[in-house]
Amino acid sequence: MSEKKLIELHLHLDGSLRPETVWELSKEQGIAIPASSPEDVKFKMEVPEDCKTLEEYLERFALPLMVLQRADAIERVTFELVEDLAKEGVTYAEIRFAPQLSVSGGLTQDQVVEAAIRGAERGMKEYPRIRVGLILCCMRGDTNQELNMQTVETAKKYLGSVVCAVDIAGAEGLFPTEMFVPVFAKVREYGLPMTIHAGEAAGPDSMRTALSYGTKRIGHGVAAIEDPELVKRLVEEGITLEVSVTSNYHTKVVDRLEDHPIRRLFDAGVRVTINSDNMTCSRTNVNKELDLMRTVFGFTEEEIEKMEEYAWEARFLKN
Ligand SMILES: [Zn+2]
Repeated sequence: MSEKKLIELHLHLDGSLRPETVWELSKEQGIAIPASSPEDVKFKMEVPEDCKTLEEYLERFALPLMVLQRADAIERVTFELVEDLAKEGVTYAEIRFAPQLSVSGGLTQDQVVEAAIRGAERGMKEYPRIRVGLILCCMRGDTNQELNMQTVETAKKYLGSVVCAVDIAGAEGLFPTEMFVPVFAKVREYGLPMTIHAGEAAGPDSMRTALSYGTKRIGHGVAAIEDPELVKRLVEEGITLEVSVTSNYHTKVVDRLEDHPIRRLFDAGVRVTINSDNMTCSRTNVNKELDLMRTVFGFTEEEIEKMEEYAWEARFLKN
């Protein structure tokens, strides 16, 4: 028998940094950050209790990104995240980040990705029980079309044993999925594997648009519950949802944790998977998310195993 699987398909690098590393990097790089101590960094990276929207949640990323403009820093934080995941018992993880958010210090997106690959490979060498892939995120916005196109080119260039797919992240409520037709036309032309954040801060139509791009995986996708036809389609087409319950509560996709539709989606036959989204920002990890599945949503161990199996089947690195 193979060992027990513990899988993270949806995890953002910049939302999962160690606060003390951000503090150390700011000192090392001589950057003035808006924080007075490692504890203060932690406080400012974590989502506030009264967070109201995805946009407000995304403001938490400004601080960590300040120290992620150098290759050595990107390599270090990628290595550390692999280390943290390995220590948590994760056996397979896909870590995602937007290379275009680390180019203000003069790095190219290729160089950003090379640094992350080095960090991931070093992590896997030191912790051989974990396999890690990297997903390159395009960003929702209205002035970064070229940067997104470059991300797709970079993904094509480095697609291999570590870089495994393209995604789009950011403010779904402000920049709808249908704005990114040219980006995903390119992704498809190159035959790159993809996943798309959708149905988080926008409704079922955003998910339909994502599906029209050819994706078989959707980040979050909780809005599907509003639309029985869409739920049926997700089941029929075997679409996998990367669900992050705690994060969805923080961004007010649901008002109360117990209102989250993960149980209803699972019972309807949708291939739902359990993910952290942002370990630091949302003060979580995959084991905490699994505990919520047991305690809040009443999933049995067999059902949890089923979701791990869904995740395993939907992984991008198949060999
Ligand atoms: Zn996400």
